[in-house]
Amino acid sequence: MKLLLTFSKKKNREPVIAQVVKETGVLISVERAHIDSTSGEVLIDVPDTDAPRICALMEAKGITVRILEHGISRNQDECVDCGACVSICPKEVFYLDAEHQVHLRDERCVLCGKCIPACPHRALSQTL
Ligand code: SF4
Ligand code: SF4
Repeated sequence: MKLLLTFSKKKNREPVIAQVVKETGVLISVERAHIDSTSGEVLIDVPDTDAPRICALMEAKGITVRILEHGISRNQDECVDCGACVSICPKEVFYLDAEHQVHLRDERCVLCGKCIPACPHRALSQTL
Protein backbone atom coordinates (compact mmCIF):
# COMPACT_ATOMS: atom_id res chain seq x y z
CA MET A 1 0.00 0.00 0.00
CA LYS A 2 1.27 3.44 -0.91
CA LEU A 3 1.34 6.11 1.79
CA LEU A 4 2.10 9.79 1.22
CA LEU A 5 3.91 11.33 4.18
CA THR A 6 4.05 15.07 4.75
CA PHE A 7 6.70 16.38 7.14
CA SER A 8 6.99 19.73 8.84
CA LYS A 9 10.26 21.66 8.91
CA LYS A 10 11.09 20.33 12.39
CA LYS A 11 10.38 16.70 11.48
CA ASN A 12 12.53 17.15 8.36
CA ARG A 13 15.59 16.89 10.58
CA GLU A 14 14.56 13.61 12.22
CA PRO A 15 15.08 10.18 10.63
CA VAL A 16 11.41 9.26 11.16
CA ILE A 17 11.24 6.55 8.49
CA ALA A 18 14.36 4.86 9.86
CA GLN A 19 12.88 5.06 13.36
CA VAL A 20 9.66 3.38 12.22
CA VAL A 21 11.58 0.64 10.41
CA LYS A 22 13.61 0.03 13.56
CA GLU A 23 10.57 0.01 15.86
CA THR A 24 8.38 -2.23 13.69
CA GLY A 25 10.85 -4.33 11.71
CA VAL A 26 8.75 -3.56 8.62
CA LEU A 27 10.72 -2.87 5.45
CA ILE A 28 9.62 0.43 3.94
CA SER A 29 10.25 1.17 0.29
CA VAL A 30 10.76 4.87 -0.48
CA GLU A 31 9.38 5.49 -3.98
CA ARG A 32 9.63 9.27 -4.23
CA ALA A 33 10.86 12.07 -2.00
CA HIS A 34 10.82 15.83 -2.18
CA ILE A 35 12.41 17.56 0.79
CA ASP A 36 13.41 21.20 1.11
CA SER A 37 14.23 23.56 3.96
CA THR A 38 10.61 24.04 5.05
CA SER A 39 8.80 20.75 4.45
CA GLY A 40 9.01 17.31 2.98
CA GLU A 41 6.80 14.91 1.05
CA VAL A 42 7.72 11.25 0.78
CA LEU A 43 5.84 8.46 -0.97
CA ILE A 44 6.44 5.07 0.64
CA ASP A 45 5.21 1.56 -0.10
CA VAL A 46 4.52 -0.85 2.78
CA PRO A 47 2.88 -4.30 2.98
CA ASP A 48 -0.93 -3.92 3.18
CA THR A 49 -1.11 -5.88 6.44
CA ASP A 50 1.39 -3.55 8.13
CA ALA A 51 -0.12 -0.31 6.82
CA PRO A 52 -2.46 0.42 9.78
CA ARG A 53 0.29 0.29 12.39
CA ILE A 54 2.76 2.16 10.16
CA CYS A 55 0.14 4.90 9.70
CA ALA A 56 -0.56 5.07 13.43
CA LEU A 57 3.13 5.23 14.33
CA MET A 58 3.89 7.90 11.72
CA GLU A 59 0.97 10.02 12.91
CA ALA A 60 2.09 9.61 16.53
CA LYS A 61 5.43 11.06 15.43
CA GLY A 62 3.71 14.12 13.95
CA ILE A 63 3.67 13.06 10.30
CA THR A 64 0.58 13.64 8.17
CA VAL A 65 -0.28 10.39 6.36
CA ARG A 66 -2.53 9.94 3.35
CA ILE A 67 -3.33 6.51 1.94
CA LEU A 68 -3.10 6.47 -1.85
CA GLU A 69 -5.61 3.97 -3.15
CA HIS A 70 -4.84 4.54 -6.83
CA GLY A 71 -2.08 5.82 -9.06
CA ILE A 72 -2.71 8.05 -12.04
CA SER A 73 -6.21 7.98 -13.58
CA ARG A 74 -7.01 7.95 -17.30
CA ASN A 75 -10.19 9.16 -18.91
CA GLN A 76 -10.83 6.45 -21.49
CA ASP A 77 -13.16 8.71 -23.45
CA GLU A 78 -10.38 11.25 -24.02
CA CYS A 79 -7.47 8.87 -24.59
CA VAL A 80 -6.57 8.30 -28.26
CA ASP A 81 -3.77 5.76 -27.57
CA CYS A 82 -1.15 8.13 -28.98
CA GLY A 83 1.52 6.68 -26.68
CA ALA A 84 2.98 10.02 -25.54
CA CYS A 85 2.67 8.91 -21.92
CA VAL A 86 4.52 5.63 -22.54
CA SER A 87 7.95 7.15 -23.07
CA ILE A 88 7.75 9.85 -20.40
CA CYS A 89 6.82 7.67 -17.42
CA PRO A 90 9.88 6.71 -15.36
CA LYS A 91 8.10 3.69 -13.82
CA GLU A 92 6.81 2.08 -17.03
CA VAL A 93 3.21 2.39 -15.89
CA PHE A 94 1.96 2.66 -19.50
CA TYR A 95 2.50 0.10 -22.20
CA LEU A 96 1.25 -0.59 -25.71
CA ASP A 97 -0.22 -3.96 -26.62
CA ALA A 98 0.05 -5.65 -30.02
CA GLU A 99 -2.98 -3.67 -31.24
CA HIS A 100 -1.33 -0.38 -30.20
CA GLN A 101 -3.76 0.14 -27.35
CA VAL A 102 -2.30 1.82 -24.27
CA HIS A 103 -2.74 0.08 -20.91
CA LEU A 104 -1.85 1.07 -17.34
CA ARG A 105 -0.23 -0.78 -14.46
CA ASP A 106 -1.23 1.83 -11.92
CA GLU A 107 0.23 -0.11 -8.99
CA ARG A 108 3.64 1.01 -10.32
CA CYS A 109 2.75 4.71 -10.28
CA VAL A 110 4.64 6.94 -7.84
CA LEU A 111 2.49 9.97 -8.67
CA CYS A 112 5.39 12.05 -9.96
CA GLY A 113 2.93 13.86 -12.26
CA LYS A 114 5.20 13.90 -15.34
CA CYS A 115 2.68 12.23 -17.62
CA ILE A 116 -0.16 14.70 -16.95
CA PRO A 117 1.16 17.66 -19.00
CA ALA A 118 2.56 15.23 -21.61
CA CYS A 119 -0.90 14.01 -22.60
CA PRO A 120 -2.14 16.07 -25.55
CA HIS A 121 -5.75 15.16 -24.79
CA ARG A 122 -5.68 15.95 -21.08
CA ALA A 123 -6.80 12.40 -20.39
CA LEU A 124 -4.65 11.90 -17.28
CA SER A 125 -5.27 13.15 -13.78
CA GLN A 126 -4.05 12.59 -10.26
CA THR A 127 -6.50 11.85 -7.46
CA LEU A 128 -5.23 12.02 -3.89
S1 SF4 B 1 -0.73 10.53 -23.75
FE1 SF4 B 1 -2.91 10.71 -23.22
S2 SF4 B 1 -4.01 10.32 -25.14
FE2 SF4 B 1 -1.92 9.60 -25.41
S3 SF4 B 1 -2.01 7.41 -24.87
FE3 SF4 B 1 -1.41 8.53 -23.01
S4 SF4 B 1 -3.33 8.92 -21.93
FE4 SF4 B 1 -3.87 8.37 -24.04
S1 SF4 C 1 2.48 10.09 -12.36
FE1 SF4 C 1 4.63 9.57 -12.84
S2 SF4 C 1 4.87 7.42 -12.25
FE2 SF4 C 1 2.66 7.83 -12.34
S3 SF4 C 1 2.04 7.23 -14.40
FE3 SF4 C 1 2.51 9.43 -14.50
S4 SF4 C 1 4.67 9.57 -15.10
FE4 SF4 C 1 4.28 7.45 -14.43
